[in-house]
Order: sequence, then C-alpha cells, then structure tokens
Amino acid sequence: MPRLLRDSEYLYGLHDPGGEHIMLGQDVPGWVLITVAVGHDPNDHSPGDDRSFWSDYRRLSDKRLGVMVRLNNGYGGAGTLPCQRDYDNFARRCANFVRNSQGAHIWIVGNETNHPIEWPGADWDWDAAPPRPRSPDREGEKITPDRYANCYRQVREAIHALSGHEKDQVLIGAVAPWNNLTTYDGNPHGDWVQYFRDLLERLGPQSCDGITLHAYTHGTDPKFIQSPEKVRDQRFQQYHWHFRAYQDFMQAIPTNMRHLPVYITETDQGDDPWRNENAGWVRQAYQEIAEWNRKHEQQIRSLILYRWPRVGSDKWYIDGKAGVIEDFTQALNERHQWGVEPVIDVEALRKQVDELSAQVNELQPALRRIAALATEVARLQQMMEGLAGQAEQAAALRQPVGDLLAKVEQLEADVGITPGGVVPQPLLQDVRTTLPVHASQRWPSRSADTIQRVVVHHTVTRDDVTPQRIAEAHVGQDKPGIKYHFLITGDGATYWTQPLEAVVEQTRVSAVNDDGVAVALAGNFTEAVPTAAQMDSAARLIVWLLSTLQLSSEAVWGRNELDRGISSPGAQWLQGARFKDTLLAQVRSILDEAEDPAQVIAQLRQQVRDLQTQIAELQALAAQVSPLQQEVQGLQATVQQQKAEIARLQDIIDAGCGGGGVVRQPDVLDVVDSLPQHPTLRYAQRTRPISMIVAHHTDTPPTFTVEQLAHYHAFGTRKDAQGNWIKKEWPGIGYHFVITPDGTIYQGQREETCSYHVGGEPNNYSLGVSFIGRFMRANYDDTPRTPEEQVPTPQQMRSASRLIAWLMQKHDVPIEKVMGHRDVWPGHTVCPGDQWTAGAHWKSLLHQQINAVLQGREKLIDHCLLFWDHGADWGETDWRNAQAYIAHFRPTSGFSTDDALLAQHVTIVGGDAGVSGEDEARLRAAGVDVHRLAGADEAETRALLGELVEKNTPWPGAPPLVRKVTEPVVRDLAAEVTAATAVDEWSVPDEWSEVEVSPAVPESARPRVKVSPLE
Ligand SMILES: [Zn+2]
Repeated sequence: MPRLLRDSEYLYGLHDPGGEHIMLGQDVPGWVLITVAVGHDPNDHSPGDDRSFWSDYRRLSDKRLGVMVRLNNGYGGAGTLPCQRDYDNFARRCANFVRNSQGAHIWIVGNETNHPIEWPGADWDWDAAPPRPRSPDREGEKITPDRYANCYRQVREAIHALSGHEKDQVLIGAVAPWNNLTTYDGNPHGDWVQYFRDLLERLGPQSCDGITLHAYTHGTDPKFIQSPEKVRDQRFQQYHWHFRAYQDFMQAIPTNMRHLPVYITETDQGDDPWRNENAGWVRQAYQEIAEWNRKHEQQIRSLILYRWPRVGSDKWYIDGKAGVIEDFTQALNERHQWGVEPVIDVEALRKQVDELSAQVNELQPALRRIAALATEVARLQQMMEGLAGQAEQAAALRQPVGDLLAKVEQLEADVGITPGGVVPQPLLQDVRTTLPVHASQRWPSRSADTIQRVVVHHTVTRDDVTPQRIAEAHVGQDKPGIKYHFLITGDGATYWTQPLEAVVEQTRVSAVNDDGVAVALAGNFTEAVPTAAQMDSAARLIVWLLSTLQLSSEAVWGRNELDRGISSPGAQWLQGARFKDTLLAQVRSILDEAEDPAQVIAQLRQQVRDLQTQIAELQALAAQVSPLQQEVQGLQATVQQQKAEIARLQDIIDAGCGGGGVVRQPDVLDVVDSLPQHPTLRYAQRTRPISMIVAHHTDTPPTFTVEQLAHYHAFGTRKDAQGNWIKKEWPGIGYHFVITPDGTIYQGQREETCSYHVGGEPNNYSLGVSFIGRFMRANYDDTPRTPEEQVPTPQQMRSASRLIAWLMQKHDVPIEKVMGHRDVWPGHTVCPGDQWTAGAHWKSLLHQQINAVLQGREKLIDHCLLFWDHGADWGETDWRNAQAYIAHFRPTSGFSTDDALLAQHVTIVGGDAGVSGEDEARLRAAGVDVHRLAGADEAETRALLGELVEKNTPWPGAPPLVRKVTEPVVRDLAAEVTAATAVDEWSVPDEWSEVEVSPAVPESARPRVKVSPLE
C-alpha cells in the first residue's frame, strides 16, 4: 500500500529526477525532489515549467519513492517568491498546480529566501566583495521573515483547502547557511540562524507543517562532515563552518516546534563541484544524520544530494561521476531510515520486564517443587544406599536361615508332630459326607492355605437344631449344601459340616466367602448369648483352626463385621454382652496354656518363614536399586537445568532493569585504547570496589577535545611560581568518561583503572566523569562569562545523567555519592566550577535528572501549557488570553495530550469541556504534575492567568520562577575556594588548546559500544 504522504522511510535522496534507478537498484526507494517554477497568475492551471512530469509524479511514487515538490514563483531575478503584493495570487497559483497534480503531497514554498539571489527584481554583482546590487534600484524586494511567513501561510492555507490535500505537508523553504545579506530590524548582521528562528517564531507550531534545511561542507574532504570548526567571523563564531551547520538550525527550532518533520533538501561539497572520487563523503554525511536521529527526538527525514542532472551551467551535477555514485551506492547499502525512536520506550521496557517477571513467578512453584523433589531424591538415594547394604546382608543370611529351617524341621520330627499342627484337634462330629446336598450343584473348591479368617454366625433357630435340618433348609434354598463349615449346638457339640476346601456362600461378600471358614453357633443371639458349653467348644474349635491355618486371633470376625446390614451373629456379639470379647479371651487363654514344645517350634518355624520372606523382599528391592539410581540422576539433571533457566531469566531482568530500574547503557565511544598515552608510565588497577562517582569540568574551552585532554594529562607538566611541581607526566587521561558539549560520551579509561582524577585514596574507589567546559562565572582574566557558558549544555546534562544513572545502577552507588570534585576535597579545588553548588546550582539539577532517569520518567519538556483542540474548534480565545502568560513563563504550548505526556508539569487552560477529565486523568496516571486553570468563563480564566504572571508563579502554589538569564553576571567565587586553589593539576593551561592532536581513531572508524540487553 502506498504511503499516504507519498514519502520515503529512507534518508537518501537526489535533487531532480534521473538518478532514482540507483536507489531502486539497491532496493532503497529514497527521495526525489522536483523543483518547478509556476509564476503567480491566479488563473494559470498549467504544469508551469514542469516538462518532465506534467505534474503527475506517480511514475515515482508508485515505485515507493518519496516525492517532494518545491514550488517557486521563478528563478533568479524573477524571485523564488513574487513581490509581496502578489503573495495571494501566488498562493492561488500554487493551489491550482497542486490541484492538478498526482502522486505528491509534500510541497516546499520557495528557496533560500534570505539570499538576495532569490529575491524578485534582484540583480546583484556576486563577484564584488561583499556582493552588492548592480544599481540601487536593482536590490530587489527583500524577503524578510515577516514577508516569508505571510506568503507561506497563504500558500499553505490554499493547499490545505483543496480536497484530498487537507493533510499535505507544506514545508518552509530552506534558509541559506552562512548568508548574511538579509538584514532587518533586530537582525543587523543578517544572522541566518536568527532569520530561521524568527521565521519559525512568526509561524508557530499551528501554522507550519515542517522544515527544510540546507547544509554543505566547504570543500570535498570527508572530514568536514563532522568538523566542529566554527565560522571565523567574530559575529558568527558560534556557528559551524561545515556540514554541522544543520545542527545550528536544529538547535534554533523553538521547543514547541520540535515535533515537526525536518528535511535536508540540499547538500553538496560547497563552492566546489562534486569531486569525482569515492572518498566516503556521502557515506559519512548519511551516517552523521542517522547518528543525529538516533540521539534526538526531532528526526531529520531526508538528506538530498544536490543534484543529479546537468542543468544549464549549474556545476553541482552528479550524473556521470562514477566515484560519487559509488560512494552513494555504498551509503545506500547502510539503509538508514528516519523515525528510529530515539527515546527509551519506558513503557515497552517495563512491559517486557513485567512479562519476564511473570515468567519467573510462574516458574517459582516449579522451583519449589523441584527443591522438594531434590530433597526427596536425596532421601531416596540415602535409603537406597542402606537398602543395597541390607540386600547384601540378606544374601549372606540366606544360608544360615536355610540351616535354621532344617533344624526346625528336625525338631518337629523329634517331637512327633505334623508340620503346622500346634494344638490338638477338639472333639468333632464329622458329618461332612452324611449331610444332604443339592442334586447337581457343588460348592467351588479352594486350597486350605488360602484361608485368612474365621467367620462366626448364629443360626437364628433353637440352640438344639441339627446340622441335618440346616443342610435341608439350605439345599431347599437351591444351594449346593449347608453354608457352614462347622456348627456348634447349645450343648457344646461340634459338627464338622463341610471340608475346609469348600467355598460356601456364608456371606454376600465373595472375597470373604473365598477366604473365610464359617463357624455357626446354633441359637439367636439378638438378645440372648451362647451357652457356656457352646462358648467353650467354639473357643477350642477356633484355637485349633487358627493354629492349623497359622492365623492370629485378629482373624476372628462376626459376619456382621464383614457383611454390612446383616445382624449375625446377633446384636450381643459386639454390643450388650459383647460375647466376641469373651470368646477371644477364651481363645487367648487356651493359646497361653498351650506352652508345649510343639507350639514353640511352630513359632520358630513361623519366624524363620518370616525371615525368608524378608530376604526375598530385600533381594527384589536390591534389583530395583540400580534403575532407581538412574532415575534419581535424571531428576537431579532436571533440577539443575530448571535452576539454570531461572537464574538466566533473573539475570535478564537484573540486566534489563537493574533490580527495578530501567536504565540502559547510553552510547559510549570507547577510545580507551586509542587515546594518547605515556610511553612508559601505567596506571594501577583499583583495589577497592567503586562506591563513588565524581563530576569534573575540564576547565577548558568547550571545543577542547578528548584527545587534547589525554595529551595534556600524559605529557603536560606544570610548576608553580616557587618551582614546585603542580603536575608531572601521567600514564594517560585521568577521567574514565568525558562528555562533550554536544552530549557525546567518550570512555577514556576502563572502569577498573585507578586513574588520577580526584586525588588521593578516592581515586581508588571512584569513577571520574568530566564535562568539557569551564563552569565559572568569570574567565581567568576576570572577564565575565555568559550564563550559558557557566553550566554544561542541555545535551551534556542529558548524556551525563543517563551515563551516571547507568553507572550508579551497575555499581550500586547511591545518589549522595555522586559528588563534585570539590565536594570530595573542599577548599582544594574549584572543580567542577563555582556554579556547582552556588549560582546556577547545577549539582542539584544533575541529581534531579539522574533521579528522573533512574525512575524511568525522564521528561523531555519541563512545563507544557495545554489548550483544547477539537479539530475545527479549538481553544483560540484561551490561547489568545494566554499570550502574556506564555511571554512571561515561556512554557511549551501544546494542543495534544499525547505530547503533554512528555512534560513534567502540565497546566491545562480551560474547563473539562475543553481538555477532558479523562485526558487529565491520563496525564496524572503518567506521573505528570497537572494543574488546571479554569474560570467560570474565558474572561475569568484570563484573569487567573494574569494573576499567575503577577505573582511570577507558573501555576498556583508553584515556586516563583527564577530566570537564569536575568541573573547578574558577577564574579562571586564560593567562599571556600580561594584564588590560589583555582589552578590545580587538572587545570589545563590555555596554550594546550592550541596543541594539534590527531583524532584517536578516524571518526568513521570509531567503534560504538552498544550494550543494550533488552534491545
Ligand atoms: Zn576535577
């Protein structure tokens, strides 16, 4: 699907069509810029001088190339804009052109309007120095920021009014860098950056869709791309002389316009034509812009090479220059895109961390189970070791136990008893073969040694009932025969009625039938109990059975204990008379009496049998030991693996958020091995852990380089007036990290190196972070320094806070231990300057910013004044009423709650019919300090705003605004710093700024340390 804006996601581009096949050949559809002269006839609907496209750019946009069309009134003396009286005609003409166009939605209004060459009616002598009009009436109509803004606004509105072009980007034309020929009130020197800033301020964020820039090098050398060289002219010495002129413009963009797209629409090698060689100029230029985008919120969306075709006498063509084309092709291979989100997406990071935490939490129960399992496994293992020993012993026991058994059998033979017989058989009337049986059915059979219990029944008859009667009754019920093995009548007579091998249906429980012997007592013991004779016979019979069958007295049951819902052998068995107890007591008493050798032998035999069983069991267990041991080892491996997995996840979380934080390592240029070093001296390794981070300034001009610093630290020597050494040669740079005014962080020493940066033992446990600059109220010659020079740049502060927060997290250093050099040795040094804890107090600012980074709430905007915007309708009256407030407090003004989320403080103007309560809640939820200024009507709101201005408090209850720029610049050193201590071994003598030191490594080859574990 084509991009709605017909733009490109890539940075690459060519001015004018013709060379796009190079980009398409690398599958990098970049930008093509077309410039057209349309004149300003409001009735003209033609494609103007566009002879190659006839204003149909789909030939490009259908190939996903980004299309940008620059609308000019004309070229040269015709003026890129017409005279101001024709601005409305020009706007209508531009709209005609756009209406008839296809495939383009990005328009640039005019070009380099601060350059007289673009003014209508101008005819200048460009060879004169400085250039001047050929005659006073040929100066042309100067295009001031006011005029340009007026024209641009009309063109933009006319284009946006066209159906299908409401959302088109109408961009302001680029301002010519280094051109100072446009002067006007308030800009007497023709400062081009001021022209640019004035222009943007006249438009404001509501009347501008985007910005175009031009940037060049003065010469063909690739090193000019990153050159920090400044303009020599005193009036403009703060501006870059080469490609980085774009940064001067970027920094001049008002904060409330930093969300707008920016395009560099022209770049080349300056006054020279393109040198036909592949020297890497093009690649470096794209890398430079990609680097900018990576570090800044405001993205540069294109870098367009000027220009592809040979056009007239224009000497900057690329077509046919194989060297440049090769350089461009290699640059394309790096596939740089804009829109790479440079801000840490804290929310996404938190989400990731939350997900990981959830994973670990999910694993916690598993871990606990594993821990329990590990204990269990250890216990098992111990037990098995014991078992193995026992199994061995068991094997050894087999022989003696076998001998023992033989001896027992010999004893039995000697005593003359049948094996197993213990007590004499009681008197039994054997009727097993004489009782009535079923004609065809027989009880199933079993082996007598399967018998496990004796089951007592009652017959629910008179106690003199005969076995014949009962057998008849049972056969009459269609049973195979009598259902009892024994019957004992009231007179104590005992009848053997069935062989022990018969499985009789004595209960409804087949398992009991299978393993039980049925002993029936004649009578009904619901209320009565058996006779004494019956009890005595029953006891004797049971003793004989238990002994013969080798059962214990626990094997005696009443049927009702085994067969639920059945009362036999009557209620008195377990309740009332509890004749079970009586019976068992009689059984035990008989057993006790049976102290004869036969019984002792029987017991011995039983014990030997038990031993044999145990041996067999142990041997079986021993056989299982080895597979179990294998299983244990497997389990142990699983435990180890799971523990490792959990540790790995924990590491990721710790690395990613530092135990709850969200600080990523900032980008650091590692120049440790490439900076100048002393040929023989070497620093020691630290012997104490890092517990402090020390801030320094370099006490040098801001342009001083890290290489120059290293060179001075290694080779610089200094003596005081008395000839005492202040500084001797050192092994190398003293600082672990150095931060340049543009926010670049260099690593100069490994963290474990005990280098000289703070002095004394603290070197052994601290890291040195140095800011390039001299943060003092006055120079050494007592001339005052500007307020901006007295503190680190915002870029330095941002990089430093990210770096220090990261180091704190890494080494567990608390914020109180982020100190200035002078805090460590009060009175001995002024470093990092007299504004550290006095004046600008940038120590507290730094601590605040560090805390913000640590808490993941690094805010980009300090204070945002938020107005409502419902599309067509917006808080225009409120906005107008707030102008005095804005002028006084200079907040970022905004209309989008999303943008306001990036602010630390938000003041909402108007009631919740405008910015809704939901939006307010959303801001609060994001940790923003929200205030709402809402009167009953707009007039009352205006009064509220006025009161705040009166009180100099940006919102009710806020501390009064302190404006640094209004502070008097006076030399006022903090009391403890004497002039004598102002120079120390770290103070770099000014002459060292003149020392030429080659870069540690070529800029292009600088390695980037990029360790972002969650990226
Ligand atoms: Zn210092």
